[in-house]
Amino acid sequence: METRSTCPYCGVGCGVVIEHDGQQITGVRGDPEHPANFGRLCTKGQNLHRTASPMVIQGQRLLQVQRRAARGAALQPIEWDEANSHLVAELLRIHREHGPAAIGFYISGQLLTEDYCAFNKLARGVLKTPHIDSNSRLCMSSAVVGYKQSLGADAPPCSYEDVEQADCILITGANPAWAHPVLFRRLEVGRAKRPGQKLIVIDPRRTETAELADLHLQLQPGTDVALMHALLHACIWQGFTDADFIREHTEGFEALKELVREWTPARAAKLCGLKEAEIWQAAEWFARAPSSLSLYCQGLNQSSSGTAKNTALINLHLATGQIGKPGAGPFSLTGQPNAMGGRESGGMATLLPGHRDPANATHRAEVAALWGLGADEQLPGPGHTAMAMFEAAARGEIKALWIACTNPAQSLPDQALVRAALQRCEFVVLQEAFAGTATADFADLLLPAATWGEKEGTVTNSERRISRVRAAVPAPGQARADWAIVREAALRLDAALNPQRAPLFAATDSPEALWLEHRESTLGRDLDIGGLSYETLERSGPQQWPYQQSGKARLYTDHRFATPSGRARFIATPYRAPAESASAKFPLQLTTSRLRDQWHAMSRSGTVPGLFAHEGAPVLKLHPQDAARRRLQAGELLRLQSARGELVLPLALDAGVAPGQADLPMHWGSEFLAGAGINALTSGVRCPDSQQPELKFSALAVEPA
Ligand code: SF4
Repeated sequence: METRSTCPYCGVGCGVVIEHDGQQITGVRGDPEHPANFGRLCTKGQNLHRTASPMVIQGQRLLQVQRRAARGAALQPIEWDEANSHLVAELLRIHREHGPAAIGFYISGQLLTEDYCAFNKLARGVLKTPHIDSNSRLCMSSAVVGYKQSLGADAPPCSYEDVEQADCILITGANPAWAHPVLFRRLEVGRAKRPGQKLIVIDPRRTETAELADLHLQLQPGTDVALMHALLHACIWQGFTDADFIREHTEGFEALKELVREWTPARAAKLCGLKEAEIWQAAEWFARAPSSLSLYCQGLNQSSSGTAKNTALINLHLATGQIGKPGAGPFSLTGQPNAMGGRESGGMATLLPGHRDPANATHRAEVAALWGLGADEQLPGPGHTAMAMFEAAARGEIKALWIACTNPAQSLPDQALVRAALQRCEFVVLQEAFAGTATADFADLLLPAATWGEKEGTVTNSERRISRVRAAVPAPGQARADWAIVREAALRLDAALNPQRAPLFAATDSPEALWLEHRESTLGRDLDIGGLSYETLERSGPQQWPYQQSGKARLYTDHRFATPSGRARFIATPYRAPAESASAKFPLQLTTSRLRDQWHAMSRSGTVPGLFAHEGAPVLKLHPQDAARRRLQAGELLRLQSARGELVLPLALDAGVAPGQADLPMHWGSEFLAGAGINALTSGVRCPDSQQPELKFSALAVEPA
């Protein structure tokens, strides 16, 4: 038998055809009709069926509800009913003793939109806690705020087809050759058909993506804003800006012009470690091409200047009129399969459903009415974002954390703080598909969740395309769909806390019912999907939002933006250095990166031995000159130290890492390394606008172990 679904790894959102016998998944291939991939899959996608083999299910899945009688005690298997009674009793106790804000939810861009909707309604509607945030905070929050500041709405204006239509592509802070492989393949095919196309890559490392570039700007980490300002300076100086577009469709250009006046290419070249001529050349190619597209990801987002980096890049598009036409626009690539769905459904501390704002009383009232809250009930305002939530837990303010489909005891920065927070909580619930993640060590209650191939719903990829995720086989053991786990607890909690009205989850008793409520929340909003249904997705395949009679491939083609004035805004943010700087004590600049064949903390991709063939173990990569200067040999064990922690790893030499810099893969945690894994070293400092942590820059010292 065959079931069409979507790959659960990256934000490209490739369609897959699951081959199965109704009980077991036996194979997978690319869906030739899915518009994201037209049948292509990368190595991770091609191996998906191996993550669902009987051996993996028996050995590496969480199949049983488990409870710990006390901290430090062994987990004991229990039944769902006992688990739900315990879960509800503990949350009600903490709610009663400390108030709703003592409860936090940390969820995931791996969840389906329907799961997000269920968690959001439970947290804000039933319990009234403001604290719900997602690991998408680590992924896309700077892009969200950047789009909203510049264009007025969190809406990526482009489509994948633009990659094939662009005359110039600027890739910055991204390595799609490894992180978005199927999209990159599309770029390669498009490039072969357009021999004159220019590819500019801005990246501190010489990555596989940079190898293909016509121009690689190997900048110093964290200096992106200065470079963007210099590119704009060069455009203005050479008369490459689009004066008509600036006058008719934007506001704020004069203030920005004043700011970038001082960022001459000569000055930026010194700061960024580039040649001045490279900056002039990049500006000319970008501005003078008939169409210029930028692709960007964590190198811009995971920064204490994440929002400023996003808006500085969008400034360049606006000043040169490179937006709202085929092959042009600022196109943020999402890391996770459903980072977009989480944004749309508002499952984040700074968002409400339908791109609403929790700080806006009208928006809160609209969502309260949609969910069916009583007239005397109010939704809470904005809550703690991811790292702030763990900081509040470390201070003892948050007493209960419900964590779903993510592994914060490995993936969040500043692990010493995160682990202290988990330890201090009175009650930690972990809802997970895979067994033995680092966070499970801190859980009082483990709830087994269904995963890819076993659950129903939708995801939205980087190009705003909504795809169906379908169940091919039943969930194993006691595993249940995430939305259903939430609903069961929510019904019991609602009856206890809000007996005066009908339960909020009474009618939302299926993925489709949750999705229809989500659809309702989008009506009249920028992401309106009023014309879409599960039936349309079944009949016509994946669709882009906004969707009425059809989806929209490209936004802002009329040059009317989503701001109150209809004009896009130039944002004049001065360059700020990263929060840490290399020093005599910590002389290296550490960046973290993604490997081609692994995903996040490897709970899924790590179940496939073949995926370790590409890179089998973590190594610290240094430029050969840096190793020689320190008399270090390849393979030698090194002690790595940052201001927050240390770990021991072997050295690898890589001329693609610039002198003075160091590179670590992001995937390995305490299961593989002594201590807390890679994120023992990284920094929890955040962008003030987006609250996204600076995972891409830490000062580091190395010495022989
Ligand atoms: Fe899955 Fe991304 Fe690979 Fe496509 S490119 S198969 S979505 S991991």
